Amino acid sequence: MKEIIIATKNKGKAKEFIDFFAAYGIKALSLLDLSEEIPDIEETGTTFEENAALKAEQISALLHVPVLADDSGLEIDALNGEPGIYSARYAGETKDDQANMDMALTKLSGVPLEKRTARFVCVLAVATPEEKTILHRGTCEGSIATEPKGEHGFGYDPIFIPRNAEKTMAELTPVEKSKISHRKNAIMQLDDWIKTL
Ligand code: IMP
Repeated sequence: MKEIIIATKNKGKAKEFIDFFAAYGIKALSLLDLSEEIPDIEETGTTFEENAALKAEQISALLHVPVLADDSGLEIDALNGEPGIYSARYAGETKDDQANMDMALTKLSGVPLEKRTARFVCVLAVATPEEKTILHRGTCEGSIATEPKGEHGFGYDPIFIPRNAEKTMAELTPVEKSKISHRKNAIMQLDDWIKTL
């Protein structure tokens, strides 16, 4: 079976990638599956694109194979795009999903539903040794609920209501999320690259 390496140690993201690539008959391995100890890459970029490229290129250089990295997050319009590239550590370095959601809900208190528009963004970078890095961006539009609901997914899923849905992303099943997510919309653009594997 063909294999690809996904530059993430985030279990929620890793699971989604494993499921997506299984549909193409490809085994996705996250950094949690490798025997080598891979250092955390410092996300020093100012955009999702820069951070995704940094992760993919540095890990591809270490392992000497093609690597796919994802940099993703939530942009809330009423908060000028926060938390954006800082989504994982919005409430601090412990990367606590509950604390991050509480922070967003507190900052949005009093903001009416129609002004709570937001989107998930996923930028994928494919780095191959000696080749130019490929970048693709996928988004999922929606709005921020007033309280968390649902048990599925990870991160901000319990407070994100996709456009035209009546439930939060965390109330959707993994299969339902995988049809509309920002990650799915970015992965679909990788079709040509997947065929070269
Ligand atoms: P990264 O590891 O720097 O790309 O951080 C991504 C962060 O964005 C995650 O830790 C989550 O907080 C958030 N995020 C990204 N994708 C999703 C998703 O599909 N659902 C919910 N939160 C997400």
